[in-house]
Amino acid sequence: MLRLIKKAIPSPVKDKIKYEIKLLRQLDRRSLIIWMNKISGKKLPTRVRIDASSLCQLNCRGCFMRKLNYGNRGKGYLKFDDFAKFTKKNAFVKEIELSNQGEIFLNPDLLEIIKYSHSKKINLSAYNGVNFNTVSDEVLEALVKYQFHGITVAIDGASQEIYSWYRRNGDFNKVIDNVKKLNEYKEKYNSSHPLVYWQYVVLESNQTESEIREAKKMAKELNCEISFIKDLEGFIPDDIEMIERETKLCYENKELRQSLSDKRVLACIQLWKVPQINYDGRLFGCCFNLDKDFGLNIFELGLEKSLNSKIIKNTKKMLTGGKICEESPCKDCWLYKKIANENNFITKKEIKERIDVYI
Ligand code: SF4
Ligand code: SF4
Repeated sequence: MLRLIKKAIPSPVKDKIKYEIKLLRQLDRRSLIIWMNKISGKKLPTRVRIDASSLCQLNCRGCFMRKLNYGNRGKGYLKFDDFAKFTKKNAFVKEIELSNQGEIFLNPDLLEIIKYSHSKKINLSAYNGVNFNTVSDEVLEALVKYQFHGITVAIDGASQEIYSWYRRNGDFNKVIDNVKKLNEYKEKYNSSHPLVYWQYVVLESNQTESEIREAKKMAKELNCEISFIKDLEGFIPDDIEMIERETKLCYENKELRQSLSDKRVLACIQLWKVPQINYDGRLFGCCFNLDKDFGLNIFELGLEKSLNSKIIKNTKKMLTGGKICEESPCKDCWLYKKIANENNFITKKEIKERIDVYI
């Protein structure tokens, strides 16, 4: 019977099936699970954000964590055991963003997390931002050796004096030295990873043409792409024309915050695409939320069960223009209030198209 069926299948179809089986055989376990979820219609995120550390050695002027006394996040860091259990239990997760409102390099388990992730074919990144003041040589080397995907380093100036106006307790020269050392390891291992982005928030202290030009020059020498960002607290530079010319920022359109993006700020999409998890497993939904978690612990419940909970489903409906979900932390968020007041809710198109969602 099987022989008859095989005979009845035309050769081009047979070749296609053979080719697809060959491709499937090459997939690692995680990719295979993701593929199976996809064909069975299960919509589960393959990327998440887990806050590796809410601890930080700096005292930046605009730090929300400091202003809110760590909000409901608390002070702590992601433990290796929790991380390993999470990745075993949620085998469809392939990419993990570790940075949020703290410094990941203060996590004492980071080295173990990096090595383990590499062995399990999980991509790690810190694109939300690091201050890069305190990183051991061992960790710098591991970032390259174990192919950490990329980091965004917050450097708001081109000299110690200007940098430390905002990044209080920060040491500009140490940060630059760490980027240089990282580049040396990248050369040693002949690796392009981790990618390094220089993030420059335009502030009262660093808005001169000379400082901006110097930062661009240094970024080029360090082989980093520089990206300028508007101050979240609304600082407007004295010479907008010069700033827009030098940074490609646009101050007329308040929705646009970063020089490399033409999309509006929509952290809410993280709830669909890259849900934010606290270092202790509590689900916060997005990186903006510091006030209240969703009452779900991912480390205990698992990601699938948590994301299929009533509160998450109702919050998603609310953010796309549906009924208000009274229990949701999003109800009191400034961003929800803004999109609701303007009747400018998140669209299906945005959810579908946006991949990175911080900006
Ligand atoms: S580096 Fe980040 S977490 Fe640390 S004080 Fe500055 S803004 Fe806050
Ligand atoms: S409404 Fe606020 S807290 Fe909720 S997902 Fe959006 S940005 Fe985050």
